[in-house]
Amino acid sequence: MLGCDKECASVTATTENPTKTFQWKMVTTWPPNFPIFQEAIEQMSKDLEMMSNGRLKVQVFAGGELVPPLETFNAVSQGSVQMGHGAAYYWAGKVPAAQFMSAVPFGMTAKGMNAWFYGGGGLELWRKIYKDFNVIPFPAGNTGVQMGGWFNKKIEKMEDLKGLKMRIPGLGGKVLAKAGGTPVLLAGGEIYTALERGTIDATEWVGPFHDERLGLYRAAKYYYYPGWHEPGTTLELIVNAKAWEELPEDLKKIVEVAARSSNQWMYSQFEAFNIKALRELKEKYKVEVLPFPPAVLKELKQLTQQVLDEEAVKDPAFKEVYDSFTQFKTDNAAWNLISDDAYNAALQP
Ligand code: CA
Repeated sequence: MLGCDKECASVTATTENPTKTFQWKMVTTWPPNFPIFQEAIEQMSKDLEMMSNGRLKVQVFAGGELVPPLETFNAVSQGSVQMGHGAAYYWAGKVPAAQFMSAVPFGMTAKGMNAWFYGGGGLELWRKIYKDFNVIPFPAGNTGVQMGGWFNKKIEKMEDLKGLKMRIPGLGGKVLAKAGGTPVLLAGGEIYTALERGTIDATEWVGPFHDERLGLYRAAKYYYYPGWHEPGTTLELIVNAKAWEELPEDLKKIVEVAARSSNQWMYSQFEAFNIKALRELKEKYKVEVLPFPPAVLKELKQLTQQVLDEEAVKDPAFKEVYDSFTQFKTDNAAWNLISDDAYNAALQP
């Protein structure tokens, strides 16, 4: 039977000590009760306990409850907690190449990201760049294509981005800076007030569902698409390597499959809830939903290339991942052209 060697070994490992239980702690980068993100992780913890028949209990702490949100990676790396959930681009300062594991501007959508992780060598590279930190990553969630953001003036040409103060993190922010804008870093809780008071001119957040809940339609007139800067943001489950090694094979398998499940589950939730929220934003709140002009997207794509090339020169690991990512993206685009893209074009009226 396929994989029997490993499966049979698992059974042996389990029967050696079938009653040992593990009490783990998990920290996340998300606010308490954050819809979809934190909710799905609370559910994953319940699932792990049930599937392991109580042998793996994971107590979940939202961002700030045990450690500050952005300390999640360090906490897992140091082993003060066994698990974490967040997005890899939060660790860009520590592991620049990690950004490819969540989202880079003009990167791949969820479909391409998952194909790269599970079948194109992406996950192996991810394990490699986290290895020195004693952290083992799993893809565990995807936001789908995010929205481009909320603006109070129309974006019709590149000049309209000059001097624009926009909340947009990471590499997307660097691209905006190249276009003459000013990227601003703000936590989720600060965005609405900053936009409403005019401290910032524009902001991106997630997609229709989360943006509606934050009330951004009350602070800006125009809602632009697509989210060129975050086309398929992957979320991550991270596990401390030492804690991982202590797990018997069957519990390892349960964690791995739970991560795969939440990867799909969260993505599906985003898609389903975004559909409904977009309709409400348009029909109930009369939001004007607009596409970025093709010329603007084209220019942003060129600036993105410059930003990524500059980062690649600074860090060999970034370059290694960038090369793999780019090759897969190119191949994926060629396949999409005659699969999803061709089919979606055929659906147009
Ligand atoms: Ca975002």
